[in-house]
Parts: sequence; structure tokens; C-alpha cells
Amino acid sequence: IFNRPWIFIRGVPSMKFLPPAGPAEIAFAGRSNVGKSSLINALVQQTGLARTSNTPGRTQELNYFVPDGYNGDMGDLPPIALVDMPGYGYAEAPKAQVDAWTALVFDYLRGRPTLKRVYVLIDSRHGIKKNDEDVLKLLDKAAVSYQIVLTKTDKIKPPAVEKLVRDTAALLAKHPAAYPEILATSSEKSSGLDELRQAIVTVINQ
Ligand code: GDP
Repeated sequence: IFNRPWIFIRGVPSMKFLPPAGPAEIAFAGRSNVGKSSLINALVQQTGLARTSNTPGRTQELNYFVPDGYNGDMGDLPPIALVDMPGYGYAEAPKAQVDAWTALVFDYLRGRPTLKRVYVLIDSRHGIKKNDEDVLKLLDKAAVSYQIVLTKTDKIKPPAVEKLVRDTAALLAKHPAAYPEILATSSEKSSGLDELRQAIVTVINQ
């Protein structure tokens, strides 16, 4: 599925704009600048699919991507949709924007049975921060399966990656909805991408 061309189908500012439920949905969340757009583009081997300019204050939308070539009008739905969630954690974000983010994301997490997993991206240089922790709690509360993906592992040395994987796994022990395995990736070096693709395929085939 990752060798096909993918297309952007819509940006969803609130629940009533969601596309018809059907495809297994795999969502991606992370702090702004974590490398989410780069990772999505690397997964589908397509530069410029997810915009890499997630500027603060931009409209907060869930961006939907599907593999091309399915004719929805003929009832031929794609087996999967990737959902790029708006980034969080801008230092200068006003409270109203944080509240809007939480409302949209929580509505989506609670109200979308076809959502199969959320990949929560964590920058290898920073590890899990307070606002990441808040998002993990939100996911636990919504009882949505999620898995941690470390990004930009090329920015730290291999032993530091190993230590971060261990420390992060230990921290996840107190999160009931977390999948225990941590994925380490670098979009820059194309490492860990096959493992992530395989994990996604396993989830959608469950
Ligand atoms: P987003 O805001 O989460 O969508 O983050 P972007 O994908 O736009 O990436 C933010 C910055 O991190 C950009 O300057 C990217 O070039 C850089 N970046 C993303 N992934 C990697 C990676 O795997 N390695 C390195 N070294 N830099 C990365």
C-alpha cells in the first residue's frame, strides 16, 4: 500500500466534516516541529504530500490522506486512511487555541470507531515532555490504541537512542492504552520506516 501514490482528500476542522467512515484510520500526533510531515512523506515515499510548514496559528484540521485509485462513488473504499493531526505545544499558543485543539482531537478520538491506532511522535533530542504526557493521558482516557515513534534518531548517537527507547518504554508502563514497543525512526536516513510500515499493516489487518 505504501508503494502506491497517495492523495490528500480533505482537511477536517470539526466532526461534521469527517469523510464517511470505512477505511481503517491511522493517525499521527506530535508537537509542532517533531518531524510529523517529514515522516508521513517518507512513509509514502512522496515529498510534499504532508505540508512541512505547520506554522503556528494555522487552521487546526485533521488532514486525511488515502492511497489513490479507489473509486468511492462505486463503493470501492480504500483499506486505509492516514490522518495527520494538528501539531501541539507551541510555546506561544493562546489558551483558546489549546482548548480548540483538545476539543477537536478528543471528539475525534472518542467518536471514531474506525480509528485503529495513533502514532505519537517524540523528538529523540527531547524525549517525552509535559504536553506529550498530557496527550498520552488523553489517549488513555479515550481508550485509543497508541504507539510511540521516536523521530530524528540521526540527531543523537546510537547508545543514546537505545537508552531513550528503554526510558520511554519504562514510562509507558503506567499508560494503559500504550502499545509497549517503541519505534525508532529517522526520515532523513530512512531508518525504522519499514518497521513502522509493517506495524501499520499489522494494525489494519487485525
Ligand atoms: P512537523 O512540524 O512535525 O510537521 O515537522 P517537519 O516534518 O516539518 O520537520 C521539522 C524540522 O525537522 C524540519 O526542519 C525537518 O527538516 C526536520 N526533520 C524532520 N525529520 C527529520 C529527521 O529524521 N532527521 C533530521 N535530522 N531532521 C528532521
